[in-house]
Amino acid sequence: MSKLRLNPAERAREFLKEWSIPRQLRGEDPKSSAAQSHGSRQLRPRLEDADKVGTSICPYCAVGCSQLVYVRSGKVIHIEGDPRSPINQGTLCPKGAATFGWLTSETRLTKVRYRAPHSDHWEEKPLEWAMDRIAQLVKRTRDESFVHALPGDGPVVNHTLALAELGGATLDNEENYLIKKLFGGGLGAVWIENQARV
Ligand code: SF4
Repeated sequence: MSKLRLNPAERAREFLKEWSIPRQLRGEDPKSSAAQSHGSRQLRPRLEDADKVGTSICPYCAVGCSQLVYVRSGKVIHIEGDPRSPINQGTLCPKGAATFGWLTSETRLTKVRYRAPHSDHWEEKPLEWAMDRIAQLVKRTRDESFVHALPGDGPVVNHTLALAELGGATLDNEENYLIKKLFGGGLGAVWIENQARV
């Protein structure tokens, strides 16, 4: 058919087709992919290659936003808000949204610095070493300071006044519950606090 016999809409469509210009014209199916450029058609979802997705909780504050953690070949490739969570419904504040950045940052600290008693210099130690050291000191302090009953015919107290716990805003309800069980019922500490009020 001669182009001259086409109406304006048909002529426009012919022109766009001829020059491969992606454009969605009036009257086309709203779900049409006519406006997709060649470049758009080649794009793939950035998480398509993830072989695993796990659920986690943002480590920053006690709001406890849920996160989806995408993994490929054992490496985290992306972290985003979990839309199934009634708390954040898929959203994350700027701090939570930066979780992937600090998790994979080259400057992230993975060791501790330790200065031994009476020493004049710091030593670098692995994190596992620090955890063991803390556990040993807690056990030793509790053993040395535990009081079964107050002097005289005082009441049974089963406590230690030599240990205290101060929680931070990153702790959510579940973690605070476990900490209270460990320090209160488990170790006998009576000074248990949290600097956050939720
Ligand atoms: S820091 Fe932001 S994203 Fe993380 S738990 Fe708190 S409000 Fe949610």
